[in-house]
Amino acid sequence: MRELFCKRSAVCHIGLILIAVIITFAVGNFTVTNAQTKPDIRLVLQITIDGLRADLINRYEKGFGDGGFRYLSGKGVVYTNAHYQYANTETIVGHTTLATGTFPSQHGMVGNVWFDREAGELAYNIEDPDHPLLPTREHETKGEQVDPAQKKSRTQGRSPTVILAPTLADSLAAYYGGRSKIFGVSGKDRSAVSMAGHAGKAFWYSTNSGDFITSSYYYDAYPDWVSQWNARRQAEGYAGKAWSLLNDATTYLLSAQDDRPYEVDLKGYGRVFPHPFGQTDDKLFFTRILVSPIGDQLTLDFSKALITQEQLGQDEIPDYLSISFSAVDAVNHFFGPSSLENEDVVVQLDRTLADLLAFIDKTVGLKNTLVVLSADHGMADMPEYMTELGYKAGRLYPDQIVAAANKVGQKFGVDEIVRFFYRPYLYLNDEKIAAAKLNRIKVEQAIAGALTDFDGIALAVASSRLSAQQANLVIEQVRNNYHGYRSGDIYVIQEPYWFLFDKGPVTAMHGSPWCYDTHVPIIFMGPGTQPQTVYRRVHPVDIAPTIAAVVGMTPPGSAQGSPLEEVLR
Ligand SMILES: [Zn+2]
Repeated sequence: MRELFCKRSAVCHIGLILIAVIITFAVGNFTVTNAQTKPDIRLVLQITIDGLRADLINRYEKGFGDGGFRYLSGKGVVYTNAHYQYANTETIVGHTTLATGTFPSQHGMVGNVWFDREAGELAYNIEDPDHPLLPTREHETKGEQVDPAQKKSRTQGRSPTVILAPTLADSLAAYYGGRSKIFGVSGKDRSAVSMAGHAGKAFWYSTNSGDFITSSYYYDAYPDWVSQWNARRQAEGYAGKAWSLLNDATTYLLSAQDDRPYEVDLKGYGRVFPHPFGQTDDKLFFTRILVSPIGDQLTLDFSKALITQEQLGQDEIPDYLSISFSAVDAVNHFFGPSSLENEDVVVQLDRTLADLLAFIDKTVGLKNTLVVLSADHGMADMPEYMTELGYKAGRLYPDQIVAAANKVGQKFGVDEIVRFFYRPYLYLNDEKIAAAKLNRIKVEQAIAGALTDFDGIALAVASSRLSAQQANLVIEQVRNNYHGYRSGDIYVIQEPYWFLFDKGPVTAMHGSPWCYDTHVPIIFMGPGTQPQTVYRRVHPVDIAPTIAAVVGMTPPGSAQGSPLEEVLR
């Protein structure tokens, strides 16, 4: 047909040539674009630094070497203005948000601990009596638990079954027909379990033994390589040793912030450098290891063994490894985020990251790896430190909140109207309210009003009033945190820099909706990413959809974030 129409037409020939040229260019461009958006990614490495407030990377930059944060920032897309969008900035909430790309209102992890109304007791987020821990030693002595959330755990079983949304790891498993190898490793159980999702496998550090452990959800028995790693008992090699500064003390910005009366001495660990770990029969020995750069170094060493033994990143099916480093958060809780200890643990983490990246380059190739770095939350400076500097803040404890709420209850003729308070949620006694035939909404509002007037409380908001409240950023954060079954009746928010938590060894906290807790780093580095700094506001819920977009798959089922364009260009 074309010949018939164009036989003697020079114009037509030119037209055909033009079309051919256009097609050639179009195909050529498509090929190039395709190569840019579908690089050969064999490993997705998701690094989470527990408690790394975004500004700490800037504050300690001078102490960094070339291979860690500096390398990632120089080669990657750096988002400087990433904030969590929900109110309860805690570890399980942050990690599950990173994993699922959605809010606690959807994934259900509303806090490290919530009140299980049916059981009538507190529940620790990932506990699961049906999936006990696999023992690593015949005679394990129990260490002293200083993690206040872990202390609330009723059983020693752990699994992700309580997470109500699919994760990126689950999507990868489904997309590649179960052929992706998926692992989560961390110093903390909740940070390994959440990131490995329902389809992956998780290992975490035990503060009882220094071993990396798992539960029957994942394995019937430890793989040989894990038993062999644990048999080396590396943590015990630090008996009688101490955490010392990496560099000369005078080179640190915070060299004067070492001996401060409001820091915590973990029974002999001391408030100043060097911090002695003690002996292995000391019930805090393995905890002190985690409250030091050694905790991260052991996490890395275990991860290296995992990468080698499980042969991650060795074929064309992308594998997934989440490593969540826990030492920065642990150090923050006892010494505060503006301590010499904090500066040193971040500087030493930088060396650990450099070690990790060099190892990945050798085994998988950074050219085949998508690296994502973020944090699960930030950290508040301690009220005493802020008060020293002129900003007045103080400490509030749960019994004060409960007493103030019960006082309001008495005005309604009900004694002990509070069923439970574990920050941020206050749970009321439904039976007493029903028996007294009270208007529940009126009671909730009266209590919320009285708590809002309390010194150090910024806002207390009744869950039943959440949809009616005039929207502002904080109300939006509380809404995003609300899950109908797990959340309490009243959400309590302290004033900025006020401490609201149990009395105990933990003296610096995160968990508020304020910027120092919501602001976290996000860095993407992979083949094809164009190095740049992005200042617009983005959110950690965008991370999972971005990884999904790079791989070419649909975001995790409940994801509410959007792919970050700068990573995809
Ligand atoms: Zn955390």
